[in-house]
Amino acid sequence: MKQVKQEESPKLKLAIQKSGRLHEDSIRLLKECGIDISNGVNKLKAEASNFPIEVYFLRDDDIPQYVEDAVADIGFVGENVVYEKNKKVNVVEKLGFGKCRLSMAVRRNESYQDASFLSGKRIATSYPVIVEKFLKENGVSAEIHEISGSVEIAPGIGLADAICDLVSSGSTLFMNGLKEAETILQSQAVLVKNENLDAARQQLLQRLLFRIQSVKKAKNNKYILLNAPNDKLKEIISLLPGMKSPTVLPLAEPGWSSVHSVLNENDFWEIIEQLKAAGAQGILVVPIEKMIV
Ligand code: ATP
Ligand code: ZN
Repeated sequence: MKQVKQEESPKLKLAIQKSGRLHEDSIRLLKECGIDISNGVNKLKAEASNFPIEVYFLRDDDIPQYVEDAVADIGFVGENVVYEKNKKVNVVEKLGFGKCRLSMAVRRNESYQDASFLSGKRIATSYPVIVEKFLKENGVSAEIHEISGSVEIAPGIGLADAICDLVSSGSTLFMNGLKEAETILQSQAVLVKNENLDAARQQLLQRLLFRIQSVKKAKNNKYILLNAPNDKLKEIISLLPGMKSPTVLPLAEPGWSSVHSVLNENDFWEIIEQLKAAGAQGILVVPIEKMIV
């Protein structure tokens, strides 16, 4: 008997790191976007119950290739990996986690002024493509030794004069007698997409991006409530940026109002100080879960 194949509605295939520094934050971001992953028996792939998305768990280094080949439509991966692998993918959005830097490091007793220090030297790294580009941009020629792990021990065993590796606190460098000399890339996790997404998948991506942006905005902002004497209201309101103008409600106590607004994390403390100085009282600051603008 001939079976009529039903046209299935498309799903967006998302690749994330299987385990490691980006795994938890990737799952958390999806959750904050209201996407629940049923971590099924099959550990390679999971389906979301409430959004047309399929999640593939892969090594982070493989994600750009899979996205270029359309095995996955999109991926969450570090910029460091995106630039090193140099695949044909589009970087769509910074995700705000997985922050680290790729830096040159040299022995602690060396004096490194600029990239010219590296001239004629041996550099050990897992990022030969990025290092090569850096050297070229600085007009320096040096020998690049590609090694896949424990790069920081290379100078100690006489394999290299400098290394280029990911740094977060610098303690690994310190323990190996090295110091950070120059940052060559600031990195964080980004969303990459295949260059030829069809219209249906592009639309799903737009829905996902809208949620990601709302989550990111919410993280950067706080909801603030305060009480103000009515004769100070004008000054206090002028200090509050807010999404539109702040909400002002009368309090039960005559002569007082309650003011509600939204503050950006960056100028948060400065504005709080000014509000207090202007006569605001009972200031409450509340995290925002989602912010739709
Ligand atoms: P995989 O097995 O998936 O290849 P990995 O060992 O390459 O894992 P992790 O150490 O888990 O990778 O790091 C994954 C990514 O996390 C890095 O490529 C980088 O983008 C980011 N990252 C954030 N902070 C750090 C850090 N302090 N050190 C190394 N990577 C970091
Ligand atoms: Zn990796």
